[in-house]
Amino acid sequence: MASREITDKYFSSYFKYKEGILHCESVPVTNIKSWLEKCGITTSSPVFVYSKTQIVENVEAYQNALQKLGRPTMLNYAMKANMNPTLMSIMKDQGCSVTLVSGLELKLAIQLGFKPENLLLNGNGKQNWEIELAVRNDCMLNIDSLFNLKQTINVARNLKTRARVLLRVNPDIDPKVHEYICTGSKETKFGINEEDLDKILADIKEEPLIHLIGLHCHIGSTITDINVFRESAIVIYNFYKRLKADGYKHLNVINLGGGLGINYKQHAAKTSRPDFSHVDTDHVTCIPSPAEVISVIDDVFGDDNVSLILEPGRSLIGNSGILVCTVLGVKHGHSQNYIVVDGAMTEVIRPALYDAYHHIDLAEPSNHRNKDVYNIVGPVCESGDFLGKDRYLSTPHEGCSLVVFDVGAYCSSMGSNYNMRVHPAEVLINGRNIDVIRRPDTLDDILTPYTPVNTL
Ligand SMILES: *Cc1c(COP(=O)(O)O)cnc(C)c1O
Repeated sequence: MASREITDKYFSSYFKYKEGILHCESVPVTNIKSWLEKCGITTSSPVFVYSKTQIVENVEAYQNALQKLGRPTMLNYAMKANMNPTLMSIMKDQGCSVTLVSGLELKLAIQLGFKPENLLLNGNGKQNWEIELAVRNDCMLNIDSLFNLKQTINVARNLKTRARVLLRVNPDIDPKVHEYICTGSKETKFGINEEDLDKILADIKEEPLIHLIGLHCHIGSTITDINVFRESAIVIYNFYKRLKADGYKHLNVINLGGGLGINYKQHAAKTSRPDFSHVDTDHVTCIPSPAEVISVIDDVFGDDNVSLILEPGRSLIGNSGILVCTVLGVKHGHSQNYIVVDGAMTEVIRPALYDAYHHIDLAEPSNHRNKDVYNIVGPVCESGDFLGKDRYLSTPHEGCSLVVFDVGAYCSSMGSNYNMRVHPAEVLINGRNIDVIRRPDTLDDILTPYTPVNTL
């Protein structure tokens, strides 16, 4: 109980039921399908619906806490969480920079007007053209391995241009999350191996075009234990002091990555709707707020005027989006009941990929009276295509709107056209206002790259 109160103090949700109908800000989500159709968009379901106010408040939660620190700070949105340009522009207007994981992400961030020198290109497998693009634009790069340092030195020498780099180190701390999103322990593919560290440091010292400006770590995602941030800050800061003493004169930044979790069960905990009783409330975890995480890190750095970069993805955008689907039908099977909807793993892959929980509920009262335990599944030809399992829900009528909550991060951006499915429309709600911020794919969008190419 206490944990729910703590979370709610920091994040108010802009997705709320009024008289049985789910609203995003002031818009009933059940109106969006017909509104899209009136705009001439016939592929109107499923649809991603984002709350602008929610995004603005999420960013403020970080920015307000960072601005109170007596040190230089930077909030870098990890754009792989969601690259919708309109959503990124909202964050830019609030003073965010961006952390990138590919050359095209870098190009888009520059096109959107983010300051190149504040961008950071991260990656354990960067191609030379990506490194070149970053160095030409004076972006920061992280160095993930000995070969990555060699690549970067070659590029800097060819371009006769300095490269500003951060070393990605592994503090070897267990973030206690799903193994696919654990990135900071010794066994992962990310970060510099201990055996290579001395060689890397020596090579950097000898190369005037490589400016070691900082240290970087990112230990995992969906972290809920604040001690994980404290412990990694301690390890990185100790290493930072050692390098400072060793005379790396450009060194002045610590980047502690992203990784803060969000409460995927917040709607389960709040709603008075029926499947609340089936949610394992022990796992409605107490998630630290951005202010708490920032304060813990600031304590570790003490009086040292080291700059702090944070690069959250999920906790800036995750709770700002829902997927509104339409129920196609209900199957009562032998041992299993199914609600079949028009949304699928092609829009929300996290349940299939990590067995992740996304809260699911009807967006409107159902015509039926009975309730049952259902698996909510899509039309994709994979048995792994499910959105939720064992949910106690009112039996929906055909055409009923059903909502998958907290899909703002790692859903649209991880989407695919598998089964030649259409990437759905995305809309942004601001008060009563609705904007289409991505139209759905057309057949032509999908087929254009298959146009024959003139070959030699
Ligand atoms: C993905 C990623 C992040 C963001 O992680 P979240 O869990 O979404 O906050 C931050 N930094 C790096 C280097 C990443 O790869």
